[in-house]
Amino acid sequence: MEEKLQRLKGLLAEIDDLSHAQAVLGWDQQTYMPPGGAEDRGNQLATLARLEHERWVSDEMAHLLDDLAPLASQLDPDSEEACLLRVTRRLQEKHARVPARWVEAFSQATTLGQEAWVKARRNNDFASFRPYLEEIIQLRREYSTFFAPFTHIYDPQLDDYEPGMKTEEVQAIFARVRPVQVELVKAIAARPQVEAGFLHQAFPEQAQWDFGVEVITRFGYDWERGRQDKAAHPFTTSFGLGDVRITTRVDPQFFNTMIFGTMHECGHALYDQGIGQALRRTPLATGASMAVHESQSRMWENLVGRSLPFWKFFYPRLQEIFPGQLGNVSLEAFYRAVNRVEPSLIRVEADEATYNLHIMLRLELEIALMEGSLEVKDLPEAWNSHMQAFLGLTPPDDAHGVLQDIHWSSGLVGYFPTYALGNLVSVQLWEKMHHDLPDLEEQIARGQFANLLAWLCEKVHRHGAKYEPQVLVEKATGSRIDPQPYLRYLREKFGQIYGL
Ligand SMILES: [Zn+2]
Repeated sequence: MEEKLQRLKGLLAEIDDLSHAQAVLGWDQQTYMPPGGAEDRGNQLATLARLEHERWVSDEMAHLLDDLAPLASQLDPDSEEACLLRVTRRLQEKHARVPARWVEAFSQATTLGQEAWVKARRNNDFASFRPYLEEIIQLRREYSTFFAPFTHIYDPQLDDYEPGMKTEEVQAIFARVRPVQVELVKAIAARPQVEAGFLHQAFPEQAQWDFGVEVITRFGYDWERGRQDKAAHPFTTSFGLGDVRITTRVDPQFFNTMIFGTMHECGHALYDQGIGQALRRTPLATGASMAVHESQSRMWENLVGRSLPFWKFFYPRLQEIFPGQLGNVSLEAFYRAVNRVEPSLIRVEADEATYNLHIMLRLELEIALMEGSLEVKDLPEAWNSHMQAFLGLTPPDDAHGVLQDIHWSSGLVGYFPTYALGNLVSVQLWEKMHHDLPDLEEQIARGQFANLLAWLCEKVHRHGAKYEPQVLVEKATGSRIDPQPYLRYLREKFGQIYGL
């Protein structure tokens, strides 16, 4: 039995290597690769994806898992080996249902799709992207059929990012969130607006970059095991526990873009850097789910990075760096400005009070695309009418509308709802952490983040993907994913800022 377990671990280590090699190529594609590299890169990624897939669906893998099933039932269910066998079985079954030809076609389609998206967004030309997206959506619909029977065609899309989560569960949670957020945004709109014009002026690029580096270094980002580069759509990627990379973008005319994006990606990276070393080169050496991952990025971006204690510490430093821009702006005015609520067109720059509305819009469109009730050719129009219904705005062009996100061009369908779920989880964890660390805010106001990070590491990071998201959230907070703490937090915070 021990020998079989070792053989299984060997196979999983190879799979891990192939997967991280793809991550390296994907990182390069989004940071430094010239446009001419797209075709070759597509072939390379497709080959690696096929090799990885072949290992997952090999007879040897299936036999090893069958042979090890008796061992799995004897082990303590929380032990690393029991979790490894459980998660491996789940992933193996997923791969076994998906034919190799689909994996290759999908890898190729998304590589070309991403290149087409970059150009289409730059040229505000949805028509040039449309055939690529049609191909990707067709492949995603086909993907669901491999998991029939299902209650909803969207379930298999969601399950890849939130193991065990169903479309109707997410719809039920969002149905509780949406009316509260819509009401809050309306109440805010009736109040005098917060002044934030000073955030829109020249902030030299290098000075911004350096400030971001200073902040995330204090957070505890480990530069020995990571680096930061620029990308059009910032992301975090892991090449293994020893190399977790982040990317950011800088707008030299707007302060918020770089700093909040950088803190966000750093939150993802701190999670990956905190995974237990014992899980190295196994499928457990990753986050529990995308929502749990997003709970970490949103926590550092918003609960820490948009809080008054955080700026009590960092604002004097920021004024030192940008004396001409911020010298005459008080801490209180700055805090209110970075928390200004205003329905806007771009999701990644949306404030906390409107963010989830962007997600709910995308969820509805994705579900319609999967059901076939919406065709790709009608997507820009559907996008614009949803924007009007959800946020009361109509984009001036597709670059500021349907073309703004990289996700669909990368084949990510079922991913967007995890952002909103992550917001909910972030506050659940925050409330519990506050209970365990009563002087949390004082620590943040002193620029001390070590206890905060250690708490997250203990409750969330070190476990990697050992537990399903709902189990992990329950172990850490005492309850499953619950929107109430988040809604309470929004009402309290923005009630104070806008005097509601
Ligand atoms: Zn994120």
